[in-house]
Amino acid sequence: MDIVAEIDAWGRETPERIAHQSGARCLSYGELLARSDTLAAWLKREGDGDSSPVAVRGHKEPEMLIAFLGAVKAGRPYVPIDVAIPEQRAERIIATSGAKIVLTPDRVAEITADAQPAPERNWKAADAFYILFTSGSTGEPKGVVITHANLAAFITWMRAEQRFGTGPETFLNQAPFSFDLSVMDLYLSLVTGGTLFSIGKEEVASLKRLYEALGRSGVSTWVSTPSFAQMCLIERTFAQPMLPSLRRFLFCGETLAPETASQLIERFPEAEVWNTYGPTEATVATTSVRVDRALLDAWSPLPVGYAMPGTRVLIHDENGRPMPSGERGEIVIAGPNVSPGYLGRPDLTGRVFSELDGTVAYRTGDWGRERDGLIFFEGRMDSQVKVNGYRIELGDLEANLRALPEIADAVVLPVEKAGRIESLAACVVLAVAKTGSDFEMSTRLKSRLSERLPAYMLPRKFVFLEAFPMTANGKADRRKLAELLS
Ligand code: AMP
Repeated sequence: MDIVAEIDAWGRETPERIAHQSGARCLSYGELLARSDTLAAWLKREGDGDSSPVAVRGHKEPEMLIAFLGAVKAGRPYVPIDVAIPEQRAERIIATSGAKIVLTPDRVAEITADAQPAPERNWKAADAFYILFTSGSTGEPKGVVITHANLAAFITWMRAEQRFGTGPETFLNQAPFSFDLSVMDLYLSLVTGGTLFSIGKEEVASLKRLYEALGRSGVSTWVSTPSFAQMCLIERTFAQPMLPSLRRFLFCGETLAPETASQLIERFPEAEVWNTYGPTEATVATTSVRVDRALLDAWSPLPVGYAMPGTRVLIHDENGRPMPSGERGEIVIAGPNVSPGYLGRPDLTGRVFSELDGTVAYRTGDWGRERDGLIFFEGRMDSQVKVNGYRIELGDLEANLRALPEIADAVVLPVEKAGRIESLAACVVLAVAKTGSDFEMSTRLKSRLSERLPAYMLPRKFVFLEAFPMTANGKADRRKLAELLS
């Protein structure tokens, strides 16, 4: 499967069809084809022979899609960077990726104003398609390389499993393009000739606007984190009459609570609910299962699904040996959807990627077990957490806190409510005298930290300490700190 060729075919066959809708702006398949060709021609001229990634910084503008496809058509991967990521972190991502060109929506509009024919295609299946940066435990984001072959394996599977026709489906795009969940709606929509309906940050900020937007979206396939659907469920009118065309919910990225699935089944009698699971390193999702009443009756917590055909989801012990069925171990994914590794980081890559019977295998760091082919997710082995579906390494946040001159040391802890991580709390030892109240000091630190980290990574609460309680081997005692919080 050649993703770009399939998308281009829609541009020739149905040029008027809407490929993307974002706020008041619409982009047709014809425009997407012509303008991504033009951008590719420009990129070729700008750097012939240069295959460095192209950074794309924006939000949900139609030009984002033009930039992604334009870069790929020029034989270069793209690095999506949402505007929610602050300048400092964006600059580090750009520098680490080696990108020499940063495209913004305005720049794309300018470059593609006059049509140019596409350059000759010359990419191979093993070439990078996109590079997604995700939280790294040392405070430096790491770039996951996803190849044409990786993306094609994922999209081929999802398209077949979900039995998309070629009719005019509308896909909800909730996640920003710098999160791999968005790859599910973006490319499933574009290869099936669908319309991608983006919910922007303005809509998410106002629930009233969000429901209005959803009401006129015509969405038939819903792709989001379970947290987002849970938030929508607060509104009682969030039900089939608001979204009469809705036929399926596709969830990924965090635990889908049985209560959420059950409520959705009740309120949307015409829609199927699917749980899918997988890390960015294995291209969005690797397992899936339809959550219906029978599954809800059989399991709590819910399973994350069966492995996609052609990919193995294994449960290993600490020595890399397979565990018997039903026993707990680490989830390992091996197959064509697994990334070749982290960009420019053979050290990190070597720690978690390996070769297994001729395919790439990735150790997820997730606890899990298998029963009758179904995979169950049972939490993390390390200090990576999910807060509202966002992947955060606590070490990333701690390193960024310690980088502030006001802070001598920091430990970040998850704050759980009903078994779910609700927010993060930072325990800090100050390097300066505390000025003002705890609240004032917290506000100041949060504001300083927001220059380095996106809002979703910021701790909600700060606890100021003279010194950390220590374990016998001289490390900050996280268990005692957690007790302080409760
Ligand atoms: P990301 O790379 O942001 O997609 O995060 C991947 C991690 O999210 C996985 O390694 C899991 O820890 C978690 N995750 C993804 N999907 C699910 C799911 N369906 N249920 C529970 N956890 C999930």
